[in-house]
Amino acid sequence: MPEQDYDCIIIGAGPGGLQAAIHLARFNRRVILIDQGGGRTRHALHLENYLGLIAGSGKALVDTGIKQIQSFGVTFRHDQVSSVQRDHDFFVVGTGKGADYRAPYLILSTGGAENLPRIMGMNRFFGRSIFTCVDCDGYHTTGKKLVILGRSLQTVRLALAMKQMFTPNITLVMPAGRLPDDHAELLAEDEIRFIEGEAEEFLGDGELTGVKLTDGRQLSCQVVMLSYSYILNDSFLTELSLQREADGKKLATDHNCETSTKNLFALGALRAGNAQAIIAAGQGAMVGIEINQRLLEL
Ligand SMILES: Cc1cc2nc3c(=O)[nH]c(=O)nc-3n(C[C@H](O)[C@H](O)[C@H](O)COP(=O)(O)OP(=O)(O)OC[C@H]3O[C@@H](n4cnc5c(N)ncnc54)[C@H](O)[C@@H]3O)c2cc1C
Repeated sequence: MPEQDYDCIIIGAGPGGLQAAIHLARFNRRVILIDQGGGRTRHALHLENYLGLIAGSGKALVDTGIKQIQSFGVTFRHDQVSSVQRDHDFFVVGTGKGADYRAPYLILSTGGAENLPRIMGMNRFFGRSIFTCVDCDGYHTTGKKLVILGRSLQTVRLALAMKQMFTPNITLVMPAGRLPDDHAELLAEDEIRFIEGEAEEFLGDGELTGVKLTDGRQLSCQVVMLSYSYILNDSFLTELSLQREADGKKLATDHNCETSTKNLFALGALRAGNAQAIIAAGQGAMVGIEINQRLLEL
């Protein structure tokens, strides 16, 4: 039997889940938020594009958010969700610690995880001078010597865009055989240096100074942009058969962030669109208000 009934269960303390919890709790709804820790927002050293945060980190945003939801009476559990099942009009959420929770509304805010190649020295510079998100950190590459690493044609488009917005000094590195001739011409026209190869190690003591390739070549740089996909944190959803977007990955949702299963909502990186903290928070506010409207018996 489920441990306890709630009006809404929220999985994931991303900005979307936290914001939805604030809104629902301030309608005096019974809300539980379950989070396993970690997450992409906590990895953001500077959230400079979030209104009102001048020198705030993602970790500070999440930690403050958890205190804020608790101050409004939200139950917070540090646990990993392992399953979600439908039981008539309710969702039953099972966790790694063996608890079951039940509610008629469920919000998913579990984001994704970086899917990066293993390159030595990554942790020393990640988020400081090695970046993965143009919308988040492209600005930090302004006027700097930049190396871009990736595997797909998306990486070429990224290099062309970075040149327009941030810096003229770009070297693009991709494995052999990945660059079609027409794309090579585009890079040459924009004076973007292209190298076939694969990174083995990021160099530098305090500051990043370069990238060493597997064939021993060393490229000097001050910043690196990585262009690899990330994987969604959605393995606990297998029993629901939710519809996906055309890419087969992101959850299909409507304008209310509602998935193909009624009363199940998805926020942030789980759905199509830009994975930005402030966008996820806005979605959370919208969904919190929407769920409250549905709970009202008028
Ligand atoms: C290095 C870096 C820098 C960034 N910089 C910026 C920036 O400057 N500006 C900006 O807007 N965005 C930035 N982002 C992106 C941004 O943080 C997120 O994409 C955005 O906040 C949306 O995240 P989310 O809410 O979908 O998920 P997340 O923030 O990843 O949160 C998901 C949460 O769900 C939890 N979770 C996952 N699976 C489970 C499970 N099974 N059970 C329980 N809990 C689970 C995770 O532990 C995590 O706490 C950055 C990201 C990175 C990695």
